Amino acid sequence: MSDLKYCQGPDCHTYTTQDRLKGTKPNKTYQTRRRSSFYYGNSNFCDQRCLYDWVFKYIEQGLDHFGRTTKAKHLTEQNSWIKDYDYENNDYENKHYVSINRITKERRPLTEEQYGDNNYTLNTGE
Ligand SMILES: [Zn+2]
Repeated sequence: MSDLKYCQGPDCHTYTTQDRLKGTKPNKTYQTRRRSSFYYGNSNFCDQRCLYDWVFKYIEQGLDHFGRTTKAKHLTEQNSWIKDYDYENNDYENKHYVSINRITKERRPLTEEQYGDNNYTLNTGE
């Protein structure tokens, strides 16, 4: 019970569903949903409506804070590496990890450790 957390939707408590109605009569109120885990917004929101309520409320502040895109970004040889894996000869026991350049189509082998390392990349530019 100690790991329950609240939905971060600013209006969660205003949606009058039965599961939000809590407390004992005559003091029952609709309350923010509280659960051990959520499926939306990096596990912070009980549903898509609450996620979008938060986005609509805070999106301008967020963009101002973290910086807006003010010019086109470009996909180049330097920033187009993605990680992937495949199987050789339909041998589904053996994954082959690979970096693929989406511009040049070059493929370079990866170790499983490099594949799982979120900080490992061949990309050198934004
Ligand atoms: Zn909610």
